[in-house]
Amino acid sequence: MDQEFSYFCYRCGGENSVNLPMPKAPEYHHTNLICSNCGDGTHILVSHCPSCTRYVYWINDISIPDLVGGFARYMVHNMQALIDKAAIQGATISIDTPDSYPISATCPCGEHLSIEIGIPDLD
Ligand SMILES: [Zn+2]
Ligand SMILES: [Zn+2]
Repeated sequence: MDQEFSYFCYRCGGENSVNLPMPKAPEYHHTNLICSNCGDGTHILVSHCPSCTRYVYWINDISIPDLVGGFARYMVHNMQALIDKAAIQGATISIDTPDSYPISATCPCGEHLSIEIGIPDLD
């Protein structure tokens, strides 16, 4: 289900129009858009509302999935330090690492969307 998406470049203000796949939430499409005018790149995360024809999107200089992955790595590293410390004291802690990170949005139609960003396997 491709849909036309238009945005204005943050750097040069030029309008860009691209066709993007827009899967219904909780699925999403993430890609790097390149401005046809100045070549500046920006990341977009887009997801389609399951109840109406609208879509929601997040546009950013950095990749949200990379951010989630990087943050998850940081969290797991710090949890591991705690777990190791607890083990020395004779306690055991088991922590389930989630395999996805939900991001919520509300569509103008009132539908609450949640997309699930996969967290890379950190073992
Ligand atoms: Zn531009
Ligand atoms: Zn909607």
